[in-house]
Amino acid sequence: MSAGSGGAPRPGGAPRPGAAPRPGAAPRLLLIEDDPDLSASVADALAGQGYVVRTVATARDGLTAWEAGRPDLVLLDLGLPDMDGTAVIRRIRKDAATPILILSARHLEADRIRALDLGADDYVTKPFGVGEVMARIRALLRRSAGPGGDVAGRIVVGALVLDVTGHVVSLAGRPVELTPREFEVLKVLLTHAGRLVTHGRLLRAVWGTAYSDESHYAHVYVSQIRRKLAAVDPDGDVRGLIVAEPGVGYRVRGPAGR
Ligand code: CA
Repeated sequence: MSAGSGGAPRPGGAPRPGAAPRPGAAPRLLLIEDDPDLSASVADALAGQGYVVRTVATARDGLTAWEAGRPDLVLLDLGLPDMDGTAVIRRIRKDAATPILILSARHLEADRIRALDLGADDYVTKPFGVGEVMARIRALLRRSAGPGGDVAGRIVVGALVLDVTGHVVSLAGRPVELTPREFEVLKVLLTHAGRLVTHGRLLRAVWGTAYSDESHYAHVYVSQIRRKLAAVDPDGDVRGLIVAEPGVGYRVRGPAGR
């Protein structure tokens, strides 16, 4: 490696020294993944976007790194050589709400849902595109920096405004008439804008634990909400706002359309 006097740009890799205008401003990510090729390519891509990335290949090293560094976000493979990745989720969730993005094998849907129910925030399935991971990371970091809520107790996602205390919903200034239950469902979804909400999490939040397997409740209410939003949405501002992940749950696009 030669450190020339010139300043030849380094292709794609780590951020250049002195490139960060505000020291400490770059989000710090912890990547826990035992596939060395995948880990290296994801870390490279993230570094290229200005993130500071620490990579480890075991759950044990992941927990050590998490406790020592308290990163802003954790990318977590569930199939790790020493422990199940869900052990990492449990440990982190004991005392932090740090966003956790699961990197999951496509065929392991039950594991994925279990991870989400334990408190992971979202997932991507392997093989994933770099753009997809970036979009999820941005959404999660935006969310942890503060939801779309404002000081007046409103949740704002694009043209849609949900007034938590006033129990009023409006779309581009037009009122949306929701029943109290529909309001609660929409509130839970908007509170997690940009993240995935499992059927179980939604049902427990709105109906209580006894209903956590009744996913048809969620379907019925979400389709009513979609219909009511569409009725006051001639410009299609919120068309596709609530995206269904079949068999898993719902994702509300974040304010920037992600
Ligand atoms: Ca693995």
